[in-house]
Amino acid sequence: MTDKHVYLFDDDLGDEYADMQAKKDLLGGKGAGLNVMRHLDVPVPPGLTITTATCNHFRTHDGAFPEGMEAQVREGLKTVEEEVGRGFGDPKNPLLVSVRSGARMSMPGMMDTILNLGLNDETVEGLAEGSGDRRFAFDAYRRFLQMYGDVVLGVDHSSFEEVLGNLKRELGDGRMLDSDIPVDGLEELVKRYQKLIADEGSAPFPQDVWEQLWGAVAAVFRSWDNQRAIRYRRMQGFDDDWGTGCTVQAMVFGNMGQTSGTGVCFTRNPSTGEKMLYGEYLVNAQGEDVVAGIRTPLNITAAGAPPGREDETLERQMPEVFQTIVDLCAKLEAHYGDMQDIELTVERGKAWVLQTRTGKRAAHAAVRIAKELVDEGVLTREQALMNVDAGVLDQLLHARLPTPEELEKEGTYPVASGLPASPGAATGKIVFDADQAEEAAKNGEEVILVRRETSPEDIHGMKAAQGILTATGGMTSHAAVVARGLGKCCVAGCSDLQVDYGKREVVARKDGGHAVTFQEGDVITLDGTHGKVYAGALDVVAAAKVPELETLMKWADQVRTLKVRANADTPRTARLARSFGAEGIGLCRTEHMFFADERLEAVRCVVLAGSPEQRKEWLAKIEPMQRADFTKIFRAMDGLPVTVRLLDSPLHEFLPREEAEHQQVADALGEDIAQLKARARQMHEVNPMLGHRAVRVGLTMPTIYEAQVRALLQAALDVSADGIDVHPEIMIPVVGIAGELSRMRKLVDATAELLFAEAGRRVDYQVGTMIELPRACLVAGEIAESAEFFSFGTNDLTQTTFGISRDDAGRFLPTYVDDLQILPADPFARLDEDGVGELVSIACERGRAKRGDLKLGLCGEHGGDPISIDFCHRTGLGYVSCSPPRLPIARLAAAQAALRHR
Ligand code: ADP
Ligand code: MG
Ligand code: MG
Repeated sequence: MTDKHVYLFDDDLGDEYADMQAKKDLLGGKGAGLNVMRHLDVPVPPGLTITTATCNHFRTHDGAFPEGMEAQVREGLKTVEEEVGRGFGDPKNPLLVSVRSGARMSMPGMMDTILNLGLNDETVEGLAEGSGDRRFAFDAYRRFLQMYGDVVLGVDHSSFEEVLGNLKRELGDGRMLDSDIPVDGLEELVKRYQKLIADEGSAPFPQDVWEQLWGAVAAVFRSWDNQRAIRYRRMQGFDDDWGTGCTVQAMVFGNMGQTSGTGVCFTRNPSTGEKMLYGEYLVNAQGEDVVAGIRTPLNITAAGAPPGREDETLERQMPEVFQTIVDLCAKLEAHYGDMQDIELTVERGKAWVLQTRTGKRAAHAAVRIAKELVDEGVLTREQALMNVDAGVLDQLLHARLPTPEELEKEGTYPVASGLPASPGAATGKIVFDADQAEEAAKNGEEVILVRRETSPEDIHGMKAAQGILTATGGMTSHAAVVARGLGKCCVAGCSDLQVDYGKREVVARKDGGHAVTFQEGDVITLDGTHGKVYAGALDVVAAAKVPELETLMKWADQVRTLKVRANADTPRTARLARSFGAEGIGLCRTEHMFFADERLEAVRCVVLAGSPEQRKEWLAKIEPMQRADFTKIFRAMDGLPVTVRLLDSPLHEFLPREEAEHQQVADALGEDIAQLKARARQMHEVNPMLGHRAVRVGLTMPTIYEAQVRALLQAALDVSADGIDVHPEIMIPVVGIAGELSRMRKLVDATAELLFAEAGRRVDYQVGTMIELPRACLVAGEIAESAEFFSFGTNDLTQTTFGISRDDAGRFLPTYVDDLQILPADPFARLDEDGVGELVSIACERGRAKRGDLKLGLCGEHGGDPISIDFCHRTGLGYVSCSPPRLPIARLAAAQAALRHR
């Protein structure tokens, strides 16, 4: 028996594929969605889908279809022919099909789709006759020839445009609209396109419809491996082995006159999340004309239209069709329990659905939609928590621009207005193409990508830019959809703008007023929340509170078991962290207490002191300042634990550099400059990151850590006298040997006892260590004998495990991840579970075996990455600690992990 390669939309996929994800894995998202919709009685033109596994067979067998596939497709098409009442290749009454790509995760516009397949010199006559519209038939044929010639036979898109342009000029108007070309013009165009393909294509255009079909299926499969699809997968972290499904579907026609059209609609506003249908459409058009952003489309709803243009909407012009669409949207949203992004075609007054998927949305919209779906009773709280992509929540805390009204009061007016396609604020220099944007971003420049419209080729530039500005296209245009997906600020469809790529300038003319010209490199500011463009750089203000986020966070806190702390070094950051829900400070670095300008000279004296006595003297000068710093932090964190890491920097970093600095220190220490320089030279290190730093300094120059411990515990005594509930945790960095910590611990305890004796009071404190060396993980049992807690410093643990310096990794790591795929992700951003994660697990196990109540946490960059947080949950850590703006991410990701692994 041969494998099953083909499923009809009407096929019941059975229990094995009951789950939506399983359906998507089998058929791709588009094919799965069409199958589901047919079973929900949504009007979907009939068709079939060839599986993703078939694509993978094709890819691994030199472009050969597997045995039996063609027969199964022929068999399936018979059913389609019956339903539609037309025959594939029938010269009198031809069935036309689309051949569509679609992977298990949406990759908008990355792969190829071919429309109107099944037309040839004979069937086009049948179509003309049958539809009673010769113009329509030849319009469909020329579109097909262009797509097929481009996608399957490799004729450049621009060659078709050139032929079209020439024809228009011969007809007397080089700028005429496609829809104004007369029938015989289109017939002529069809002939010229065929000639063009014969001249430039890899083969002549096939008149045989089956040959057309196999060519198209192969091209769809091949498009999985085109450059832009590969690039997109890298960016999204999608697997190359998924393959694409290939859907063959009966055509319906949006280009059959004024009662036909094509559109895209969202069941809610994807920018704000507001519950209102949001859609755009083009009359008498086909396929991707809306998404391509070539013409700015009309609105579907009157409420979504600009004031005064409510009549130019589908709602007013075709109220019955509109009502059907409203009902369909409601049905699909209820079924999927989430906002849907729906592709529609209206053929002579009847609405058809061609695709539905969970729509990309801005961060605020995601949170609002999830909350409101719970309020509406569509989702449970837990489902809602799972629906929101945790990784985007930090965007809600980003600074924003003042509102346009506030700015106007200060006399700041926009130079242009467009659609608020993706919220946020962005400032940067104007660039006009994607490569340039990428280049500039690499050099650390902030840029705004300004385009007439964007296409899938521009993704890398959109990612690199701060914001995106387009002159054409609507809220569902490529630019808008991709920007929301990337969380980038975007103003789209800004018709006040004229972009001139040749002159590398853009002219803004608002409401017919006077024009302002911007050159490449000029700075502008975008307000994606209100759709405004401003000249120059504007100041931002703190993010507005998002009430829905607070609700969602409350729900998350109820289900998560992993605690969240923040990395915070100053009282201000500590207070900020608390306001974002931190349950403690997981990492308070003390370096800034040494590097502050007014302290640096004293610190240099400490480091370069000639004797321990002299060192103590200088330390005594810094101690009160540090004590004051700690006091403020402890006050801010009243009731919550604060993990303070003792000095971590290599001593090397404190050495004076310039002559004047040397002189200063020499004077302060009362020494000869030559002598001082000699001592500094001796302290010079070849590899300071692996050198004299952290606990190694603590043990060899014990006065430094002693002074820090005293400042810290004295501060704790001070605040506790004021009734503050203080929980200091003293963390010793870069421990790799159990003896380092046991000795250090003695020193800490002795210092504490002395202090407590002087004060006649005590405070509780804990001593633990940062685990950041592979050896520490392996001997974690012995280390745990003197540690009450472990905090995994996964930034350094990643460096030391891989032997890769994070600061230099930029030269090769991107190649490893993007091109060679040696690593699935940057291990400094996403915890490497196989290596670093394994060490963490070992350390947890061995540490806990020795000390049952050992506290375990993680305080690297990974503490704010949802996938790494899932690992922390599974490994049984007690908390993760991240930078304050990532706290909402951590809280939600921890809740999702708890739900996932319940
Ligand atoms: P993409 O993945 O790039 O969105 P699709 O396969 O969805 O590509 O096709 C793009 C557009 O082509 C659809 O939105 C729809 O408007 C049009 N289209 C595809 N199949 C058909 C069909 N059978 N009938 C009419 N239009 C179609
Ligand atoms: Mg589509
Ligand atoms: Mg470290």
